[in-house]
Amino acid sequence: MYQHLFGPVPSRRLGMSLGVDLVPHKVCTFNCVYCECGQTTRLTVARDEYVAVDEVLEELAHYLAHHPRPDFFTLSGAGEPTLNSRLGEVLAFLRRRAPEGRIAVITNGSLLDDPQVRAELAEVDVAMPSLDAASEAAFRRMDRPSPRVRLASLLAGLEAFRAEFRGEMWLEVVILPGYNDSAEDLRLLREALVRIRPDRIQLNTLDRPGTEAGLQPASREQLARIAADWGLDNVSVIASAPAAAPAEEGYRADTGVAILETLARRPCTAEDLAHTLGRSAEDVVRQLAALEAEGRVTSTTQARGVFYRLPGNGPPPGS
Ligand code: SF4
Repeated sequence: MYQHLFGPVPSRRLGMSLGVDLVPHKVCTFNCVYCECGQTTRLTVARDEYVAVDEVLEELAHYLAHHPRPDFFTLSGAGEPTLNSRLGEVLAFLRRRAPEGRIAVITNGSLLDDPQVRAELAEVDVAMPSLDAASEAAFRRMDRPSPRVRLASLLAGLEAFRAEFRGEMWLEVVILPGYNDSAEDLRLLREALVRIRPDRIQLNTLDRPGTEAGLQPASREQLARIAADWGLDNVSVIASAPAAAPAEEGYRADTGVAILETLARRPCTAEDLAHTLGRSAEDVVRQLAALEAEGRVTSTTQARGVFYRLPGNGPPPGS
């Protein structure tokens, strides 16, 4: 079982994606109310080697020697991956050892005002920053950033990165009713998006239990209405799951281990797990029952179904 690699799993945006975790649970510059990884335990803007990069490189070398290439290597983690101070070395390693591989990074964009971070991320093929709000009040309430993160700097960092970056920028906006969907917040978001000029704008909403109880997702109709009101030609609403089955070679055979790896990162329903891991629903349900009987996973009923998570991995949903 790899400690720092995850998958490959079918990603709704990237196809078969091998996650490369560069920060542990839960080191982030934000503590978003909707975060599916649980509360941020280390709220910081200080870059450091939060995950031992030598170990990451060893695991990547092993993976490359024993498994087919995924569609994407995706730098992520249970937090903000650009906080890892050796991020550039991981990118250089992947470029050298898997030159045909495509690399993506999922980031909240908070460190993009740092020219060093922008220079490191110049190596990726697809940058996937997020932007939830363009008003200070909505930003602080929804993303609960470190006091050292300023919205103006974050927006300036996104604009500077766009101007320098030669790859694709897919910017995700999570809409959370009551947090960032007022007419004024949506107007300010649109203005920011026009200035940033991402290649794609992907509208999303809460899909699984967040950090705070009682959050409601936006409906697909609301997301479609926002996209239409913005009137920009590069906005899409992200579906909750990919329709097509991914390539068989990307699947993992060790279902129990793969379930635990997946639940270490986010709560999932049995259906989510079956789809993500490419296993039959019966196999996943059987494995979950055994893991729950052993006390290795817990379950809670939510509106979208029964969610499983690892004990102690964030607060129970709905608490
Ligand atoms: S959603 Fe992303 S940016 Fe927000 S707290 Fe979670 S890991 Fe950090």
